[in-house]
Amino acid sequence: MKFSFEIRDFVDVDFHTEKIAVVGDDYKLTWSEFNSRVCELSGELLKNNIDQVNRPVIIYGHKSAGMIVCIYACIRANIGYVPVDIIYPAERIKKILHQSGAKLILNTTDQKLGFENVHEVLCSSSIFKETLQKFSAVEKFTAADDSLVYTIFTSGSTGEPKGVQITTEAVQSFVRWMCSDFGFSSYDVFVNTAILSFDLSVFELMTFGAIGGTIVLTSRAIASEPKKFMDHIAQYEGTVLIATPSFVLPYCRMNGQEKLESLKCFLFCGEILPNSTAKNLLENFKNVRVINTYGPTEATVATTIVEITKEIVSRFDSLPVGVSKPESKLLIEEGEIVIAGPNVSIGYLNNPDLNAEKFVMRDGLRAFKTGDSGYLENGMLFFNGRNDDLVKLHGYRIELNEITNALHSVQGVIQAATIGLKRDGVVKKIVSLVNVENSVSDSVMLKNELAKTLPHYMIPADIKFVKEIPLNANGKADKKLLTEIYLSAR
Ligand code: AMP
Repeated sequence: MKFSFEIRDFVDVDFHTEKIAVVGDDYKLTWSEFNSRVCELSGELLKNNIDQVNRPVIIYGHKSAGMIVCIYACIRANIGYVPVDIIYPAERIKKILHQSGAKLILNTTDQKLGFENVHEVLCSSSIFKETLQKFSAVEKFTAADDSLVYTIFTSGSTGEPKGVQITTEAVQSFVRWMCSDFGFSSYDVFVNTAILSFDLSVFELMTFGAIGGTIVLTSRAIASEPKKFMDHIAQYEGTVLIATPSFVLPYCRMNGQEKLESLKCFLFCGEILPNSTAKNLLENFKNVRVINTYGPTEATVATTIVEITKEIVSRFDSLPVGVSKPESKLLIEEGEIVIAGPNVSIGYLNNPDLNAEKFVMRDGLRAFKTGDSGYLENGMLFFNGRNDDLVKLHGYRIELNEITNALHSVQGVIQAATIGLKRDGVVKKIVSLVNVENSVSDSVMLKNELAKTLPHYMIPADIKFVKEIPLNANGKADKKLLTEIYLSAR
């Protein structure tokens, strides 16, 4: 039987096998079960003309096998989807609904979200088909040449999350590269760590399907306990672990690596891979490959790859991030890394001004100005940090201004600024400074207000009260001075 998902055309997998395709935190699916559920759901979506609605579908949940079924059903039916994890507070989901114009939520949890004017289907329930039929597709599809596979919302400096739109062309280019240059096969068991709203998860999400392997989802409850996580990998004989370097740090300091004898590869992306982490993994995990990759969500997961060997670890203090995938090009323009190629997004959703600034054409190819600085040595890219307010904390991408904007919308806050405190050039802590009216008396109340709109990882570790926010010559918050004020007030 052929699985009619274009990206799958690379490989021939027998879908009647009883091999496991998906391990969710709810249930497991063999390839034949997975295939029939995807076909059934995509059939329902098509029968109800949901592909005719030129709006994406929200897929809501957390690490359930049902979420993977929904995603593949949307891909199969050529319907763009927006993955939304349960860690997002309701106000943030409302913003995503508003921006995307989504009218249908495939909810893979048991709890209704209950937003007005949105049709919501609980995909875990048996009434799923009937409720879906009540959704009427009234708008007509205005066919895009290159249809969207997904839109991933990242932190936005204006206070609104930014929707990065990724097309079929971009995903196919990414998957071709994954299938050719990473040495993976259908025997691989891809262990997921990132939530499905982050593009890091697209590594395993698209690759297991394209290659006919297995995806093992890791819930937050398991990911937060190293011992449980190790048992999880051992139980499902994980071979490829996809994570940010921050995530694996505890495993470098633990014993018991022998339990993980199935593991063949650590695949990293999303933040600096410290030399010490790579060295430790190569010493402690025998016969494991350590692969570093680099790229922003705007260029579909990753654009460069390098296998970090013992030789590279001893040669470079700051490890390289890799050479470009063959279909793309890396340019360095005044120190800034620019990525050109078919993997580049067609732009942020409804954001023409920012698109004009960040998405450009180079050599006839779509290109993205990353905001990262770096340099090339014989085609090998080295990452040199950022000069703007986008930071990575524990692997999470955060625009500091989004936190500041959220503080400004809390009643009683007159002025606010947010800074990232660094150690060895890496942000270790986010703090905000606020000037408030007398009505605001404690930072716990401010954090509670922030938690209504921001996910937990964006809540500053500390909020300090100040009489005023000092400004620099450009009239912007003077972050250098604010850092000094914060550190001296501790
Ligand atoms: P995201 O869109 O969440 O993947 O974040 C993209 C940003 O993460 C990039 O623009 C870089 O600043 C940073 N980044 C991604 N990969 C790496 C890497 N291998 N080394 C250093 N920074 C990275």
